[in-house]
Amino acid sequence: MKIIMLGAPGAGKGTQAKMIADKFGIPHISTGDIFRANIKEGTELGKKAKEYMDQGALVPDELTCDLVVDRIKQDDCSKGYILDGFPRTIPQAECLTKALADMDDKIDYAINVDVPDENIVRRMSGRRACVGCGATYHIVYNPTKTEGICDRCGKELILRDDDKPETVQKRLTVYHEQTQPLIDYYKEKGALAEVDGTQDMQDVFNGIVKILEG
Ligand code: ADP
Ligand code: AMP
Repeated sequence: MKIIMLGAPGAGKGTQAKMIADKFGIPHISTGDIFRANIKEGTELGKKAKEYMDQGALVPDELTCDLVVDRIKQDDCSKGYILDGFPRTIPQAECLTKALADMDDKIDYAINVDVPDENIVRRMSGRRACVGCGATYHIVYNPTKTEGICDRCGKELILRDDDKPETVQKRLTVYHEQTQPLIDYYKEKGALAEVDGTQDMQDVFNGIVKILEG
């Protein structure tokens, strides 16, 4: 099962992708997580990506596409995967479609997690990420047992630099201009499924499972 998660930044793609990956035993591939890991390790890719991420801009397609195409060719992806945060532009989607076609393959489901902009701002300002394992929480909707401490690994939680209010607005504009057109792209391919992302996390998850098992 090859799945793409579509939706605005903060719509809940990562939250749902992790739950789906666990349920179906497929890898969760988040380009945002890959870039953040590279930033932490101080790699050349990390240094380049950071310049764009800190401004709420997209990392250029040429730094992103090959990374994902190489990743989905690895052995653990043979039964499927869930892509979270990729593709984010039409050229990225075209690159993925072509790479898959070369392997006689295609995306089965592009799931759009639909959340209006006003909810997004609340979600992103309350999101907290673990500096250790990258787990994501929300101070109101998904709090940790002890404030500021990760339930999974005990490390500290932070507000991501790109979740600060001045950057969130920029990211939403970029989303509407560059990423939203992917909804029509995958609709035309007959792969689009929509889920109401304003429901609570478990209900969003149940909706997605229904689509995938439908
Ligand atoms: P994305 O991966 O799309 O950027 P996340 O999965 O990180 O989004 O979710 C953004 C924030 O919203 C996180 O703090 C997360 O805990 C919270 N969140 C995710 N899904 C829901 C939901 N259905 N209802 C309320 N809050 C949610
Ligand atoms: P995310 O964790 O998905 O919210 O991504 C965080 C940031 O990483 C984005 O705002 C972009 O700057 C960058 N990024 C992640 N995925 C992509 C992608 N597919 N294309 C370009 N930039 C990306």
